[in-house]
Amino acid sequence: MVPPTEAPATTTGRRVPARKGKKRGEGQWALGYREPLNPNERSKKDDNPLNVRQRIETIYAHGGFDSIDPADLRGRFRWWGLYTQRAPGIPGARTGTIEPEDLDDRYFMMRIRIDGGAMTTEQLRVVGEIAQTYARDTADITDRQNVQLHWVRVEDVPTIWEKLESVGLYTTEACGDCPRVLLGSPVAGIAADEIIDATPAIKEISERYIGDKSLSNLPRKFKTAISGSPRWDTVPEINDVSLVGVVHPEHGPGFDVWVGGGLSTNPKLAVRLGAWVPLEEAAEVWLGVVQIFRDYGYRRLRNRARLKFLVNDWGAEKFRQVLEDEYLGRKLVDGPAPETPAARDHIGVHKQKDGNFYVGVKSQAGRVTGSTLVEVAKAAERVGSSRVRTTVEQNLLVLDVAGSDVDGLVGDLGKLGLQADPSPWRRSVMACTGIEFCKLAIVETKQRAIDLINELEERLADIQGDVDNPVTVNLNGCPNACARTQVADIGLKGQMVPDGEGNQVEGFQVHLGGGLGLDAGFGRKIRGHKVTSAELGDYVERLVRRYLAQRGEGERFAQ
Ligand code: SF4
Repeated sequence: MVPPTEAPATTTGRRVPARKGKKRGEGQWALGYREPLNPNERSKKDDNPLNVRQRIETIYAHGGFDSIDPADLRGRFRWWGLYTQRAPGIPGARTGTIEPEDLDDRYFMMRIRIDGGAMTTEQLRVVGEIAQTYARDTADITDRQNVQLHWVRVEDVPTIWEKLESVGLYTTEACGDCPRVLLGSPVAGIAADEIIDATPAIKEISERYIGDKSLSNLPRKFKTAISGSPRWDTVPEINDVSLVGVVHPEHGPGFDVWVGGGLSTNPKLAVRLGAWVPLEEAAEVWLGVVQIFRDYGYRRLRNRARLKFLVNDWGAEKFRQVLEDEYLGRKLVDGPAPETPAARDHIGVHKQKDGNFYVGVKSQAGRVTGSTLVEVAKAAERVGSSRVRTTVEQNLLVLDVAGSDVDGLVGDLGKLGLQADPSPWRRSVMACTGIEFCKLAIVETKQRAIDLINELEERLADIQGDVDNPVTVNLNGCPNACARTQVADIGLKGQMVPDGEGNQVEGFQVHLGGGLGLDAGFGRKIRGHKVTSAELGDYVERLVRRYLAQRGEGERFAQ
């Protein structure tokens, strides 16, 4: 990460003044709309959000929660990975009648960015110890390879940063309208089937541009995926920019460039620019895409501010032309599309190209504890490994394990509840943070997902062997789709639903048949197709039994 600097946000100098009396602009800086058009834009203009770190260290950590300026609390804190968590006992609803301050607990969620999902065992142990000491032993592995802590007090934040940074970990830009964690293949550099190792590109971007104030006021969040794995193990279809490993027939291994993916309430799959980029140019092209977003992205309405809306309006051809002509100053090489993969998670025991093995284990919907992370670090070190990885399926990997040590490690991790050979349900159920901690949530998700896994293991024990392609079930606490509602076989969007006796209770709108890779597409939202949280086990059981009974030869759920 670069140390925060005072570089002003700039565009490439091609702005034209806003034209009065013409069609209302979308707030694009490059077209001259520099006056903030909503309170979020005003807050970012008033003070670069990265500046809040100094106030946390010098004022808020000493004055406590009540000393925090509300504009920092509910805005700028995010740029340092901090959100207030939801006060316990507030019912789930789109909270028009509840004041924001009533929703706030006096504690924070803290997101630690793990670029590329890459950690040493020392780093993992430090994260675990921080969770034990400062976060009531909570730790969730998110589906963006981060680790998220809860119950953090502002008084402890500077000490936590000091401990994290002493081992090279950061919370810089883990949230906020800025370049968030850089997703990377968890098996970069070790997988036998790898097309190209993207690690140098991730490292260069992280070191040069994360914490750079010229990129810290974007229209909204900016998500990146860079992977040279043929498994597309960074969900490239749904990131703002994705560099996807591909072999060019003349130039060799490099990356195919995709832009404009994203879910939430207006989902879009990323589109290919048709351009091939070598490893040495990956960071430069990434920067160009971020700068386009900063300069041309829509800032007027928050719900139209993601890059996907600009890409949708411009199309791939214009986007590439602007990237080449205005930001790179040269043409990119045309390139082929990568082959679409079927499998993408890394669960189980797999051989590395150096003859060692990596072991992929499944958490329960991302929920672990600090103590578990410390024990994982110890278990890995006992077999001589110093490298662990997080994945976008909320899994953990231990790398560099000798063949003779694999069984012992698998046993040790299993005792921690982390299974290398999980049931299809444990393997394929994911959940977002939900109402336990998230202020936007309408329903409970994490514990519901854990209960669902246990229910399905019992209910469907008789047909477990028939499930060759696990049916993915993604639980989300609201329409924001942090756990990827629309691209699951069974996508669940939290909302209040009728229970048949005239009550509104926690439940889900169901999206059926979404997928990524070979099945890329959004699940169908069938009007009125809703299930209460209490009936979820019955519902999934019925659906899975029917699918297994009626499927054709080789037919997957999404088909
Ligand atoms: Fe919170 Fe909604 Fe995202 Fe779940 S999907 S973490 S409830 S914002």
